[in-house]
Amino acid sequence: MCGEHSCMSEDEMKQLAEQIGYALPSAAELNSTIFDTNEPVETGEVPPAYRAERYSVAGEESGEGTRRRSTKGEDGRSRNLVFPPAPEPLPYPVVDNHTHMDLLDGDVAVSARDALDTGEAVGIGRIVQVGCDVPSSLYAVAAAAADSRVLAAVALHPNEAPKLAAAGELESALGVIDSLAAEPRVRALGETGLDYFRTGEEGKEAQQQSFREHIRMAKKHGKALQIHDRDAHDDVVAILLEEGAPERTVFHCYSGDASLAEICNENGWYMSFAGTVTFKNSHGVQESLRMARGELILAETDAPFLTPHPYRGRPNASYMTNYTVRFMAEHRGMDLEELCRMIAANSEAVYGSWD
Ligand SMILES: [Zn+2]
Ligand SMILES: [Zn+2]
Repeated sequence: MCGEHSCMSEDEMKQLAEQIGYALPSAAELNSTIFDTNEPVETGEVPPAYRAERYSVAGEESGEGTRRRSTKGEDGRSRNLVFPPAPEPLPYPVVDNHTHMDLLDGDVAVSARDALDTGEAVGIGRIVQVGCDVPSSLYAVAAAAADSRVLAAVALHPNEAPKLAAAGELESALGVIDSLAAEPRVRALGETGLDYFRTGEEGKEAQQQSFREHIRMAKKHGKALQIHDRDAHDDVVAILLEEGAPERTVFHCYSGDASLAEICNENGWYMSFAGTVTFKNSHGVQESLRMARGELILAETDAPFLTPHPYRGRPNASYMTNYTVRFMAEHRGMDLEELCRMIAANSEAVYGSWD
């Protein structure tokens, strides 16, 4: 699997995980499936792997800092935890270039393989599994080794950096990310960036320092950069220009307006659209989608978050990229297959080949 490159063995990965008390899933667990036979994914029905009656995870805690997305919505009320129905398959397979299979939503604990098989059945042929801290970055590397449909991104999330800095652990965590970044199936440093929505003034310095380090690592390893930018457009752009952006730079869950889209177009930075582009009040993001140069457009779920319209608030998974891509084609007035081919080609231009 690693070709002539040196890469970490499963044992070395396990050791690294053990040191931090993380139970790294084995290849067998990642490849496990709940199906006895190949049950089909039917259009208009909840995909078999996402039906709650197949699982018993009710006792598992949910919410921020746990492995499961909160069962309460933004308004504090209980969410509808039934997964949305499967859409009609796309005419050409696309890439979900930003997803978190290790984070669960709803009352299911879907294996990586079942998530990937479901996505593939509706036209999401490949994904980039993204890390937010050392454990989830290890997961991403393991998932990419276990299935050829997965490439990995590794990083410390901007909301993690201040916590690590406060604990005196930022430097050592960055060191682990640096060593993982050398792995051949790790194709991006991400998600890194700035988040001024969740992190206050006191965390800015650590966030910016961590972001700069990730930019340097991306360039050093010749990998792409996946940026998380929440309420921080100006500083993200300023730091990118100061440090010199990596050759392939992606704004994940693009949240800017026309002025940021113009900057991205000028600099050749990729805009990755998530379910948020389908929301009725996302005027700036939608305008950006119309303005974006075709060769800079990517698609993602950021699952389990940001479920696209008309299922906003419901659980999210990689197969839901399909709904977002349909919206994007309609909104840009493009032929659906043409857009799918464009997203697939752009994704390979950023991350290289999955095979
Ligand atoms: Zn993010
Ligand atoms: Zn994310």
